[in-house]
Amino acid sequence: MGIAEKIISGDVRAAAKLIRDIDDTVPEARVILKELYAFTGTAYVVGITGFSGVGKSTLVDQMVAHLRRAQKTVGILAVDPTSPFSGGAILGDRVRMQRHSMDEGVFIRSMATRGYFGGLTQSTRGVIDVFDAMGKDYILVETVGVGQDEIDIVQSAHTTIIVLIPGMGDDIQALKAGILEIGDIFVVNKADREGADRTVHDTRVMIEMDEKRYKDGWKPPILTAQAVYGKGIKELLDEVENHRRYLTSSKERESRHRYEKTRNALAEMIRNKIVHEVLDDITHSGEFEEALEFVMKGKMDPYTACDNIVLKKLGSGKK
Ligand code: GDP
Repeated sequence: MGIAEKIISGDVRAAAKLIRDIDDTVPEARVILKELYAFTGTAYVVGITGFSGVGKSTLVDQMVAHLRRAQKTVGILAVDPTSPFSGGAILGDRVRMQRHSMDEGVFIRSMATRGYFGGLTQSTRGVIDVFDAMGKDYILVETVGVGQDEIDIVQSAHTTIIVLIPGMGDDIQALKAGILEIGDIFVVNKADREGADRTVHDTRVMIEMDEKRYKDGWKPPILTAQAVYGKGIKELLDEVENHRRYLTSSKERESRHRYEKTRNALAEMIRNKIVHEVLDDITHSGEFEEALEFVMKGKMDPYTACDNIVLKKLGSGKK
């Protein structure tokens, strides 16, 4: 059996190896991803994001418990763009995830920052495809932090959950810039703490101010949860289902969502490929250093140096 076939038949070792190769940007991984693609498209992808310590892992762990009781298989991907550790083993070994690690219906992996700019989003998409081809019903993608990387990552999800905690106050204001716009569902976790109602209220005010963004008929609900006590999890999963129904209830909406996701993914893939191919190539050939020297010595402006290099590379028919 080939590697792709093994993965499609659910072989965990083959999948784990491929995911490691994706994280290490091993070129052969791409060959297998190409074969797997035709077998993707059935999993439902949920992104979970929010600042570190708000309880995302605890929530994910509880969500998995519920999904497993409903006989659903789950892939969990923890992405940590800020992790200084290579291999991403740290997150995957986190204690809160451990109770599912012996369950054959759950596959947990983690990734850290690797490779070149933009590579993490790309690798994340690759891993989502692997889980999907393995036949997982749900894929939960947990990211740490709320920067641009995380926004890009959760954007490849069908439903995005933003996790907040009581007393975030000004932090919610800070979130406004990017993350509020991508949230389909908001959860104020640690609702056992004081100030949860206030945070729900503040979030609601902010969402309502932005109502024109939600003209398409989905107004993000704001829930409360106490993940550590298992409270609010069923309600959260119910909202995920509501959002899924919302997405799939209209053929037009569903195909637009798919179109946008595919367009983003393809554009990013092309961008990465160009950066990778051109930059790698000119670094190895010495052209980069040569151009740099020209610019440094004032023999050429950087705009011209850039155009010369890029046009030459792309014009030469290089893949
Ligand atoms: P993450 O960094 O967002 O993944 O957060 P974790 O899941 O690691 O949780 C951070 C800490 O918050 C842990 O000590 C959890 O036990 C705790 N925690 C999670 N959910 C709750 C909750 O509902 N209430 C309280 N009081 N603590 C919680």
